[in-house]
Amino acid sequence: MATKTTSKTKTAAKTKKDEKAKNAWLKYNAEQKKEVESLNAEYIDFISECKTERECTDKIIAMAKKLGYKDIYSVKKAKPGDKLYAVNKGKALILFVVGTEPLEKGMKILGAHIDSPRLDIKQNPLYEDTELALMETHYYGGIKKYQWVAIPMAIHGVVCKKDGTTVKIVIGEDPKDPVVGISDLLIHLAQDQMDKKASKVIEGEDLNVLVGSMPLKGEDKEAVKANVMKLITDKYGITEEDFMSAELEVVPAGRARHYGLDSSMVMGYGQDDRVCAYTSAKAIFNCKAIDRTAVCILVDKEEIGSVGATGMTSVFFENVVAELMERLGDYSELKLRRALQNSHMLSSDVNAAYDPNFPSVMERKNCAYFGKGMAFSKFTGSRGKSGSNDANPEFIAKLRAALDKNKVSYQMAELGKVDQGGGGTIAYIMAKYNMEVIDSGVAVQNMHAPWEVVSKADVYETEKGYEAFLKEI
Ligand code: MN
Ligand code: MN
Repeated sequence: MATKTTSKTKTAAKTKKDEKAKNAWLKYNAEQKKEVESLNAEYIDFISECKTERECTDKIIAMAKKLGYKDIYSVKKAKPGDKLYAVNKGKALILFVVGTEPLEKGMKILGAHIDSPRLDIKQNPLYEDTELALMETHYYGGIKKYQWVAIPMAIHGVVCKKDGTTVKIVIGEDPKDPVVGISDLLIHLAQDQMDKKASKVIEGEDLNVLVGSMPLKGEDKEAVKANVMKLITDKYGITEEDFMSAELEVVPAGRARHYGLDSSMVMGYGQDDRVCAYTSAKAIFNCKAIDRTAVCILVDKEEIGSVGATGMTSVFFENVVAELMERLGDYSELKLRRALQNSHMLSSDVNAAYDPNFPSVMERKNCAYFGKGMAFSKFTGSRGKSGSNDANPEFIAKLRAALDKNKVSYQMAELGKVDQGGGGTIAYIMAKYNMEVIDSGVAVQNMHAPWEVVSKADVYETEKGYEAFLKEI
């Protein structure tokens, strides 16, 4: 009996460890599988419709309003249980569920970014060359430029006119719309190009979008450009000078799709970091009565260093927390500082998923895998953790307890091998307030490519993980 007991104990311990390493798909019953599918169906719609930071902001705010969230600037007083939002210049947002505890006890913050790599149209974009009309672009974020040619592209954005009105533009998403794109050199004449370094195969100034080839009858000079401009003016009422005050983004055209013969994954544009943004928003929407105030921050400009008024380094967040304290009748500079310092945050961004096509850049014991759930990075950075927030193990231990209690699948992961490269997130910016912050998120294949891939199980587990954080921390 004794020996058997020993072996039983051993088996139990082993089973528990195996359970952690197990693929999340294996734990789902039919009901949960349906939940995974329905969350991912909503998510696919979201990333198909929302391809700019503005479109993401508009959509999340519309969802919030339906659930009873009110604009914080429209209310004079706030109380526990209130659901509030704040929008920063149409490109970033904060959602609050006010808790029963005073704000100075700290907040539970979910943060992610809603800007994604793309090609921005320049301020003097349109020109004609050899009876073809093209638009100049300047790429946004880190991209492998050669991936962005010879694919269908759409134009999303706004044109702000001198009369104070803003025209919203989306061209290339409706199947009846035309698409645009950037040409690549035919292989037959690419002998010199093929010898170039990958970073030089397509250069930044070569990312010119072809937008027309039909001349306007009766026009002598630059008739193709004139024809394109006439189409734009007729449809949107904007002139060529209006491009000066426009923010137009060229993005991959078309909807996100189920991916894999088993449909277990999602392929779509801009999943860095809208996969974390959407699931963070869903988690706060699902959060009921709460002790310490729940917050979801969705910011812009992460891909270019979190700079600018709508990026995480802006004082917008701090200002809005002060506004909230004021409305709770509890504002002081000291209380604001305490509220920030006593907070806990999941700074969510995508992680690199292990890819059997590129095993050499990963250290297999410490990288993220599809289907193993929410991915946590104690630190990011490169060359000796440089530039990284390094999460405190006391906080990680609390998180482990919260996730295990709620049966969330999760994994600890680094972004690739030591000295292979690296990346940064918004974590270090929030850590400056002296709050507890850790990087978390969803593993992605093809990060920053026009079409990125995630596992549906990871999307589901991450949303559940955010819910557990809001409930337990
Ligand atoms: Mn990101
Ligand atoms: Mn990124």
